[in-house]
This record gives sequence, structure tokens and C-alpha cells, in this order.
Amino acid sequence: MSSLSPAERVLRGRLGNAGPRGHTDGVRVLVVEDEAALAEAIGRGLRAEGFEVELTHDGPDGLWRARERPYAAIVLDILLPGMNGFAVCRTLRSEGVWTPILVLTAKDGEWDEAEALDIGADDFLSKPFSFVVLVARLRALVRRGGAPRPALLSAGDLVLDPATHTCSRGGAPVDLTPRELALLAELLRRPGEVVPKAELLRRVWGDDFAGDANVVEVYVGYLRRKLDTPFGRRSLQTVRGVGYRVVADA
Ligand code: CA
Repeated sequence: MSSLSPAERVLRGRLGNAGPRGHTDGVRVLVVEDEAALAEAIGRGLRAEGFEVELTHDGPDGLWRARERPYAAIVLDILLPGMNGFAVCRTLRSEGVWTPILVLTAKDGEWDEAEALDIGADDFLSKPFSFVVLVARLRALVRRGGAPRPALLSAGDLVLDPATHTCSRGGAPVDLTPRELALLAELLRRPGEVVPKAELLRRVWGDDFAGDANVVEVYVGYLRRKLDTPFGRRSLQTVRGVGYRVVADA
């Protein structure tokens, strides 16, 4: 990995901003897109706007370049040979690479926009997209720079990293599903406080959830089996008739 910090990467990427075309002049962008014609068109268009563009056509090479070189932003397709865009994005974020990433999702595809943002992308565009919109979004991303790393959430030795979507107990990684992570994050945002069941249901399952509200109890049970029982803890507590809380269990 390059020794540049995320901030340095962004700064390096912004060098040479002055110019007749404004702040995109010389701004280096990586485009990871396996459809050759589309990649070429994006490259041509961005160069015409003053960006410095590198094209690559598969996931592993995209990951390697993003790790090694300072880009101001990355345009990342999702369905790629070798390694999909979500895995590329998630890996970069877990390694502390915060280069702004704009994900290209296929409309009505296998992946949706919420997932794109969930894995640490900064923005997304559904294909087919307007080139004008792509340029505007990229400019906004470059201006904003890399996303600051969200703070760790914790209660005692139970730690959740919202940036990498990982969880650990006493330093030991614990594998949680996205829903389990979301539920635990809601509880850890207010350690020691009772969070009403209805609120957890709304925030984790959404306003439109029409199923049984007992799903919250079921998932708290899953969390206990992964985070408490194997470690002899009782950190996930039910407050009968009210809700749930997470405490730093001694
Ligand atoms: Ca593709």
C-alpha cells in the first residue's frame, strides 16, 4: 500500500486544479468499467472536461490501482470480472482508503442504491446515466474529498466499526449479517439507554415493514448467541414491555 494518508491522497489528486476549465483540470480519476465501449466513452468525455483519466476493466486491477495511486475519485462499476465493485469498495474502506467512490449500478439490477451506499460508496448512478450528471456528481465528490471515517461504536469490549461493517468482542472478530449489524449499531449509538422496540423496528426494518414486530426479539436473540453466550456475557438486555439496551458487561 502507498504510504500516503487519505487526506494526502486527496490533496495530491487535487494538484493542478487551476486552469481554464476550473477545478477538474488535471484531477486524476480512475474508471473501473468492463464494458469497453462504455469505458472508452466515459474516458473520452471526462478528458474533454479536463480530468486525467485512467481506465481499467476488472476488479482486481481496479483494487490494486486504487490502493497504490492517489486518485481524486473513482468511478466503479458493480458487475466486473474477477471481483465485483462492492467487494472492491468494501475492501478499500476496510483498509482505510477513503478516496471518493461513485458506483455505477445497473437499473433493475441485482444490486440497489442503498447497498451501494451501505458498502462505503459516496454516491451512485444508475445505468443508463446522463454524462452531464456523471460529470456534475464527480465534481461534487472531488470538492467534498474523502469521507471522514465514522467513529467506532462500543460498549465495553464490544466494538462495531460502521465504516468497515465489522464487529468484534474482546478483539475477536464476530461475523454479523447486515441486519444484525444495523440492529447492534442502533443499540450502540445509545449505550446503556433503553431503545424502544418500535423504534428499532422502524429504524432497522423500515417504515414499510409489515411483518411481525417480534422480529426484533428474534434478532436480539441472534446477537446474544454471537456476542454474549460464547463469551459468557449478558450485554444485550431486554427491558420487558419497553425495549432493549446494550451495556458494557463486566
Ligand atoms: Ca459491468
